[in-house]
Amino acid sequence: MKLRLLTLVACMGICNAHAQDSLQMRKIADEILLHGTCYDNLRVLCKSVGHRISGSPAAAKAVSWGEKAMKEAGADKVWLQAADVPYWYRGKESLYLKMGKEYKKVRALSLGNSQGTSGRPLEAQVVMVHNFDEFKALPDSKVKGKIIFFDYRFRQDFVFTFHGYGDAVKYRWASPSVAAKKGAAGVIIRSMSTGMDDFPHTGGMHYNDSFLKIPEMALGNITADQLEQACEKGEVMARMNSECHMMPALVHSYNVIGEIKGTETPERIITVGGHLDSWDVGEGASDDGAGCVQSIEVIRAFKALGVKPKCTIRAVLFMNEENGNKGGEAYADSAKARSEHHILAVESDAGGFSPRGIGMEMPTEMKQRILKYKNLFLDYGVYDFSLEEGGTDISPLKKKLDVPLVGLIPDSQRYFDLHHTDNDVFEQVNHRELKLGAAVMAQLIYLVSENGL
Ligand SMILES: [Zn+2]
Repeated sequence: MKLRLLTLVACMGICNAHAQDSLQMRKIADEILLHGTCYDNLRVLCKSVGHRISGSPAAAKAVSWGEKAMKEAGADKVWLQAADVPYWYRGKESLYLKMGKEYKKVRALSLGNSQGTSGRPLEAQVVMVHNFDEFKALPDSKVKGKIIFFDYRFRQDFVFTFHGYGDAVKYRWASPSVAAKKGAAGVIIRSMSTGMDDFPHTGGMHYNDSFLKIPEMALGNITADQLEQACEKGEVMARMNSECHMMPALVHSYNVIGEIKGTETPERIITVGGHLDSWDVGEGASDDGAGCVQSIEVIRAFKALGVKPKCTIRAVLFMNEENGNKGGEAYADSAKARSEHHILAVESDAGGFSPRGIGMEMPTEMKQRILKYKNLFLDYGVYDFSLEEGGTDISPLKKKLDVPLVGLIPDSQRYFDLHHTDNDVFEQVNHRELKLGAAVMAQLIYLVSENGL
């Protein structure tokens, strides 16, 4: 009898705590859905700064924008954290394909970090392969001096499109060095794209220093289909011209940080962030303006609601995620040097789409503690807690300080239509989806700050 009573009292305690949590989650969601400023902030970032590759004057402008937005959100303290970053410069570029009688200009983008043709045209026959195995089977004589077209298709059968991206991205990252090893003169790839359109997608690539640094350009899916058909029929020629190159020196840049000081355990820190840099096309709206404005929104909503979190909450706009992660490294290095105690780091870098899940990179017992809230998140459309996803910017915190990581998992169906393209613009982001994502981040941070992890 006594035991039963105790069980009942304990259960009432837990149920009561859950009811309190549920109520506070509702308040946070209401505040953000009704009064959130993240969508307006995204408009300003996209339209007044636009794309902002690391090291560029636009990236410096974005830092000033972030500092101002963080102050307007009501952060107790706002500061800049230095990080020296690489600066890859695109310049002019063009690609002409001769798929019939005449050369025709096609839409193409040089890949980030790549070395162009130094402004001199590179003209050569195109040799098509579908994957690395096919390429490796070719004799060197068929490759030497040619432009290799790596026609690998983004697999459409994965439901979570990041798995398709993970499968295909090696062709963007490594093709030039793989091809140069056998004497190729240049590389064309089919974009890492789910889109049924002709937007080429840029993105980071990497040279193996043992081989010649040959140029690499990406095609949208429509042009890639045309090139595939033309290569099947007969000889195709290509003429590449591009000025892109990596600038010789690093550029001084910054992470932007805004903080709400914790009331009970201020030494315990929760970081929430996205990356401020983008590729040099479109407006960097989904990648990752969305994550930046959602992180600022967490600060704004807590302040507007008068939430006084037990732990310190820090929103961070990281610099240089796309081609170096220097901002993420600098943040973790500083945390380590100051012996900071980070109890959790959260990142939004998968687009401003409807939140569907919470990815967790942490020990099982911590996952279990977050899973206790699973039912509370169902009301907000968040059901998937199965993925081991954190985020690139926060990954050095795990590597260097063993900080548990959470990645917001939005619906992934449209992200790789837009990712790293001219079409990644403000108009592609829906204000409700963006705000709901911010609400889920704020809710989770509230629960961990108040109840621990
Ligand atoms: Zn990103």
